[in-house]
Amino acid sequence: MDFKLTEEQQMIKQAARDFAQTDCLPGVIERDDQQKFPQDQIKKMGELGFMGMMVSPEYGGSGMDTLSYVLAMEEISKIDASCSVAMSVNNSLVCWGLEKFGTEEQKQKYLKPLASGEKIGAFCLSEPEAGSDATSQRTTAEDKGDYYLLNGTKNWITNGNSASIYLVIAQTDPEKGHRGINALIVEKGMDGFVVGKKEDKLGIRGSDTHSLMFTDVKVPKENRIGEDGFGFKFAMKTLSGGRIGIAAQALGIAAGAYELALKYAQERKAFGKEIMRHQAIAFKLADMHTEIEAARMLVYRAALDKDNGESFDLSSAMAKLKASQVAMDVTVEAVQIHGGYGYVKEYHVERLMRDAKITQIYEGTSEIQKIVISRAIAD
Ligand SMILES: Cc1cc2nc3c(=O)[nH]c(=O)nc-3n(C[C@H](O)[C@H](O)[C@H](O)COP(=O)(O)OP(=O)(O)OC[C@H]3O[C@@H](n4cnc5c(N)ncnc54)[C@H](O)[C@@H]3O)c2cc1C
Repeated sequence: MDFKLTEEQQMIKQAARDFAQTDCLPGVIERDDQQKFPQDQIKKMGELGFMGMMVSPEYGGSGMDTLSYVLAMEEISKIDASCSVAMSVNNSLVCWGLEKFGTEEQKQKYLKPLASGEKIGAFCLSEPEAGSDATSQRTTAEDKGDYYLLNGTKNWITNGNSASIYLVIAQTDPEKGHRGINALIVEKGMDGFVVGKKEDKLGIRGSDTHSLMFTDVKVPKENRIGEDGFGFKFAMKTLSGGRIGIAAQALGIAAGAYELALKYAQERKAFGKEIMRHQAIAFKLADMHTEIEAARMLVYRAALDKDNGESFDLSSAMAKLKASQVAMDVTVEAVQIHGGYGYVKEYHVERLMRDAKITQIYEGTSEIQKIVISRAIAD
C-alpha cells in the first residue's frame, strides 16, 4: 500500500488550498449570512479546471483522477462548503454521468460547457414525497413519440437557480416500477419549466437550493440518457460516485474546523497557560485528529477503488457514513474549544458546524448508507 500523493496530486491540493484562501475566504461569512450564491468563486473554479476535474480533456475537462478531485474538494470545503457542493454536484453527479452514459451528441452539446465551468449543472431526483425512497417518483415523462412530456415537481435541488442544464429523473412506465424510470436532460428556458422557491437553510446557505416545477415540458427523445428505463440505474450509479465527493466535503469541513481549533488552543490562555496545555482540551484535539485521519483513509480508499476500476458502492457508502459523522463530532468540539467565541460568526466554526449537518442528509442519509453497507456485507 502506498499512501503517498504523486507530485501532481500535491500540486492540485496546493492549488485548491490557495484558491480557497484567496478567493473563498473573503466574504464567506457575508455570503452565508445573506444566502448569496458564490457566483464569482464558481466562475474562477471553472477557469482553474475544478468544475470538470475528471472529465477527459477531449470534452473540456481536466482529465484527472478521483483522488485529485477528492483532494481539491477537501481543501475548498475547509473554507466554504457552499462552493464545494456546487463543485461536487457538477463534477460527480452531472459531468460524470454524462461522460459515462451520454451519447456523443449529448457530450458535445452539454458536457463540454459543464466541464469547462461555462455552465452549471443540477441533478434532480428528490421530490416532495420521494427522498430516500427514490423509486416512488411522481414526476412523469410520458412517451409521445419523438419527445417526452414532463410533468411534476422536484425538491431540494442544489444549483437549482444557478444551473442551466438539469438531469431530471422521471417515471415513464409506472407498470414497470423502477425499470420504467428515465433520466432526461432538461434546459433552463424550456417552455413549462419554472424554478420555484429558494430554501432558507441551516447550513450551506450560499448554495441555492430550489424546488423545480415542470408543466407539459417537451423534452426531445435525444435528451434521454441511456436506454429506455435506464433512469433509476443511472441515478443510483451516479449517486454512488457522488458520495465520494460528499464524503470529501465532510472530511474538509472536519479538517477545517480542526485546524482552527488547534490554532486557537495554542493561542488562547486560561488559568495562566494556553488551553492546549489543559489535558481536557489536548485530548479533544487528539481525538479529532485521529478521527479525521480514519475518515481520510476511507475517503481516499473509495476514490482509489473508483480510479482502479473496482466496485465502489460499499467503499463510498462507508466513506460518507464515517466522514459525515466525524464532521459533526469534530465541528461540535471545535465550537467547544473556542468557548464563547465559537458561538459567534466571526470565528467560522459555528458555520462549519451548521454546514456539517447536511453531509449526513444529502446523497443518501446516514441511515440509507447503513442499508447499502449492510446489504453489501450480507451478500
Ligand atoms: C440542502 C439540500 C440539498 C439537496 N440537494 C439535492 C439535489 O441536488 N438533488 C436531489 O435530487 N436531492 C437533493 N437533496 C435531497 C436529499 O437527497 C434528501 O433530502 C435525502 O435523500 C432524504 O430524503 P427526504 O428528505 O425525503 O427524507 P426521508 O426519505 O423522508 O427520510 C426521513 C428520515 O427517515 C429515514 N429513513 C427513510 N427511509 C428509511 C429506511 N428505509 N430505513 C431507515 N431510515 C429511513 C431517513 O434516513 C431520515 O432520517 C438535497 C437536500 C438538501 C436538504
